[in-house]
Amino acid sequence: MSVSQKAISAPVFIPLSAPEIRGNEWKYVKECLDTGWVSTVGSFVDRFENSVAKSVGAKHAVATSSGTAALHIALLVAGIQPDEEVLVSTLSFIAPANAVRYVGAWPVFIDAEADYWQMDPQKVADFLERGCQWRNGRLYNRETGRRVTAILPVHVLGHPVEMDPIRDLARQYELAIIEDASESLGAKYNGVHVGRLGDVSCFSFNGNKLITTGGGGMIVTDNQRWAERAKHLTTQAKDDPVEYVHTEIGYNYRLTNIQAAIGVAQMELLASYVDTKRLIASTYGRALHDLPGITLMREAEWARSTFWLYTILVDAGKFGMNSRQLMRELASQGIQTRPLWQPLHLSKVHSGAPAANCSTAERLNQNALSLPCSVGLSQSLQQKVIESILAVCRTRRH
Ligand SMILES: *Cc1c(COP(=O)(O)O)cnc(C)c1O
Repeated sequence: MSVSQKAISAPVFIPLSAPEIRGNEWKYVKECLDTGWVSTVGSFVDRFENSVAKSVGAKHAVATSSGTAALHIALLVAGIQPDEEVLVSTLSFIAPANAVRYVGAWPVFIDAEADYWQMDPQKVADFLERGCQWRNGRLYNRETGRRVTAILPVHVLGHPVEMDPIRDLARQYELAIIEDASESLGAKYNGVHVGRLGDVSCFSFNGNKLITTGGGGMIVTDNQRWAERAKHLTTQAKDDPVEYVHTEIGYNYRLTNIQAAIGVAQMELLASYVDTKRLIASTYGRALHDLPGITLMREAEWARSTFWLYTILVDAGKFGMNSRQLMRELASQGIQTRPLWQPLHLSKVHSGAPAANCSTAERLNQNALSLPCSVGLSQSLQQKVIESILAVCRTRRH
């Protein structure tokens, strides 16, 4: 069978979100291999850090081996101690909650708001006002008796959290803000890039993110001392590079030059990737907006979203099937979709952590379905996804 025949007869598979490698990746990686600079020191690491810092508008950036490692180190440099509590979005990938546990602290899970599905500032205020009390100038959770010292908002799906009220509360209650911007590089809140809205912020360059290094992360901050400490902790906390003297426990969390080379090439295309994601989102929006039982992903007036993972809500009663049934139906046609994460307050591994009513996150989890939205998704394949959803809707409704 010829290649072209094979392509014609092969069933289409439309992935949810595949990496887009089409820039200078090969060239820069080859440079690493040709020069022998393959490990955690090299010019691409510096270039990658500079390019992310510049793109976000932050003073310092420190590359890490993953977004999860970035969160771990960010919590350490922010001074979060064992048995303290950190407010975390419950509707999120699990990494930030796990990172809170790595430093021996506890997450307190905060519900999502219904409009943009981000950490709900009102629920943050409720917890701080009613669930906490001051003692000797320190804030404590009334129920657990533990000190509350930080807040970790997660900008999910490419859309920012509404940060002004959260920043006001953080100031009032003396909380550090650790931003998890892993899913939202390129997004803006009131014209300010995510990654500039906290005391220290984290990005991920995992394969499913908007831009990727295969695996990797970045810590971003304006605080020079914290940036230096982050670099120190990610490089095994080596005090003397000749004698190998250490005075504290460090980590091997550095990104390699090869990965950074891919990252530099990817960063060159970030702006165009964001434009493409926004185009994919508006195409879905136009095609699906009047389908009964479908709620579209929205963008707040104060936000510029990257629409990293384009997601809809499916109301089973009105649409005629629930989100999981629709997922299976589309899967049978080679179209990959996925529900959102199990809300973290329901996760077995975090069952010891406090959480108030998180019913919005639970409803969103029931109804949400992310649709194929790779940067490389062609118009014709997106049309196929749209046609398939419309067809399912037609057959279900009579
Ligand atoms: C992807 C992601 C991370 C970090 O993931 P890594 O795979 O460790 O790079 C952290 N938080 C959120 C919300 C994420 O989506």
